[in-house]
Amino acid sequence: MVSSLEHPYTNVLQQYLELEKLLIEFFAQVRFCQSDCPITDGIGCCDKYHFVEIGDFVPRIHVLNHERQRLYGGPSKERYDVEKCFFHSVESGCQLKSHRSSICLAFACENLVEHLMREYDLHYDPNDIRYWLQKILMGKMSGCEFDNVKMRINRMIADVECHESKKNIKT
Ligand code: SF4
Ligand code: SF4
Repeated sequence: MVSSLEHPYTNVLQQYLELEKLLIEFFAQVRFCQSDCPITDGIGCCDKYHFVEIGDFVPRIHVLNHERQRLYGGPSKERYDVEKCFFHSVESGCQLKSHRSSICLAFACENLVEHLMREYDLHYDPNDIRYWLQKILMGKMSGCEFDNVKMRINRMIADVECHESKKNIKT
């Protein structure tokens, strides 16, 4: 069996994980889901098995699904007949620290999108973000496009940071 490091799509996975890290940092800074989720069931939008990457662009997606399963276990098939995601904890949210699917990484409900606009003047489009992530998985993202996307996410992080520090100075 080919080890994950020798996998022909290692580069694809590295790029994907790099963006994932930035997106997780971004949402952690915004901290909307913990306190302001409009869905009061404690599960929020993590009500199904969204963590399995799906799409027509096999076989590259397998590297993400395979690595996620190797590191964290869990089911390998998407399921919609469940009440909450296998990785969701009502106390602390998503237990998957990496290798989330593009659906999970990009998703923001309408309330969160509105919040980002109102609070930080950020136009966040989940479809754009998902498109970029999937483009990586398809092996179709060029080096300069990747740098550009990274810059855009870093700018979003910087905008939120700046806004939050201004708020802290006022209080
Ligand atoms: S994205 Fe929206 S629905 Fe999902 S947990 Fe956050 S606030 Fe709740
Ligand atoms: S993997 Fe995480 S973000 Fe995705 S549905 Fe499950 S708990 Fe939610």
